[in-house]
Amino acid sequence: MQDDLTSVWEATANNAPETQKPEGEYACDVLVIGGGFTGMSCALQLAKGGASVIVVDTIRPGFGASGRNGGQVIPGLKHDPDKIDRLYGEFSTAFAGKTAETTFNLIKEHDIDCDATPSGWIQGSVKRDHLGWLENRMREWQTRGADVKMLDTAEIQALSGSQRLVGGWLDNRAGQLHPLKYIRGLTRAAQAAGCQVFAPAPVQRVKSISRKWHAEIGDGTASITSDHLVVATNAYSGDLFPKLRKSLIPVNSFQVATAPLSEEQLATVLPTKTPVSDSRRIGNYFRIGPGGRLMIGGRGSFADPVSRAAFNGIVSELHAYYPWTKSVPIEFCWSGRLAMTYDHLPHIHRPVDNMTMAVGYNGRGVALSTSLGKAIADNLLAPDTPLPLRFSDISPLIAHDMHRAYATIAIWYYRLRDYLES
Ligand SMILES: Cc1cc2nc3c(=O)[nH]c(=O)nc-3n(C[C@H](O)[C@H](O)[C@H](O)COP(=O)(O)OP(=O)(O)OC[C@H]3O[C@@H](n4cnc5c(N)ncnc54)[C@H](O)[C@@H]3O)c2cc1C
Repeated sequence: MQDDLTSVWEATANNAPETQKPEGEYACDVLVIGGGFTGMSCALQLAKGGASVIVVDTIRPGFGASGRNGGQVIPGLKHDPDKIDRLYGEFSTAFAGKTAETTFNLIKEHDIDCDATPSGWIQGSVKRDHLGWLENRMREWQTRGADVKMLDTAEIQALSGSQRLVGGWLDNRAGQLHPLKYIRGLTRAAQAAGCQVFAPAPVQRVKSISRKWHAEIGDGTASITSDHLVVATNAYSGDLFPKLRKSLIPVNSFQVATAPLSEEQLATVLPTKTPVSDSRRIGNYFRIGPGGRLMIGGRGSFADPVSRAAFNGIVSELHAYYPWTKSVPIEFCWSGRLAMTYDHLPHIHRPVDNMTMAVGYNGRGVALSTSLGKAIADNLLAPDTPLPLRFSDISPLIAHDMHRAYATIAIWYYRLRDYLES
């Protein structure tokens, strides 16, 4: 029997927005496939700009990573600003630096109730060796005017309540939110702007006929015709576009949340409620979640978990950060899939002029996918509006079917390097 793997977000979110199962034939300017942050923020912006938009999701909005993540709203890409400048130019670096601000502004503009707080974010380290490159990263943002600073051992241990962290940096542009409330609020905002949201509505096939897209939904009882197609299926991309699926490595991230902590415990663990990610190659992220629960996440197995035993590794990490939590029960265990790319960069593709795809946030997608979805909409509404990233060709990974084996070996290798550097 499968254990209960309901997330803390599902247990504490407001009601899901009404969506309908499509039946019959529909037409719109833009069909968006995928009801996560990318698809929904794109749809919202398009609808606000006067386009007729339909969003479809296989299960429901927020079924993918957007309804399951850690809720850390972190600006930037995985790469540092100087490197983003070299790869894409300063416009892209400025865009990346503002993704958290864009997200918080959108939440404010639409009055989305999702516990959003600009509490900052700490990238901490359990290794002194990492402090040099963390300081470089901090300085590169600082020279661009970002409100960031280094934290010494005493400061990070006071802010985290963990003796395991030896230093890090604080990014005051960042913050956190309740991801499922956020995607539900974004969906309601898109609906209020005139967008139709269909779910359950899996797209089975798309065909291009006379420059229009024809999407066949579910068992073939519904179809949608559109001028443009936006594909925002990320790590949940199936065989609708096999080349796209093969350009990504879907990776499971596992999370657990404890029972609510006492006031005394909350005064010592993350007392300012600033979330933390650690800088190891296979690191963890943690924060205080709904009801004063301590949450921690990290890399899980490639197979979707079916039992709570699969989360033992993450629970051990929790105990390593906070040994006193050994006596605190774990209430929630859940997982979701994020999409890794070979170059650790997000990819946008425009394989033909009336189709746009945006994928591959490498685990840093809350702010980035929201902002990229919006940027794609701005570009569709006014084609002269530049996109923050260049279009790339869809590049399927060689021997993609072996990716689980390769990636499992890579993860063990990185874990070993993390260990040897301790
Ligand atoms: C456990 C976990 C923790 C994370 N923590 C953080 C964090 O703290 N901070 C951060 O910045 N990032 C985090 N991320 C990453 C972030 O959640 C993602 O980058 C982001 O949500 C991606 O959004 P998306 O809209 O592109 O994709 P998703 O939210 O995955 O949405 C894709 C949607 O497409 C739908 N779909 C797929 N195929 C079809 C089809 N054929 N027809 C119709 N619909 C289809 C799926 O049902 C799904 O709902 C985390 C990810 C996970 C999994």
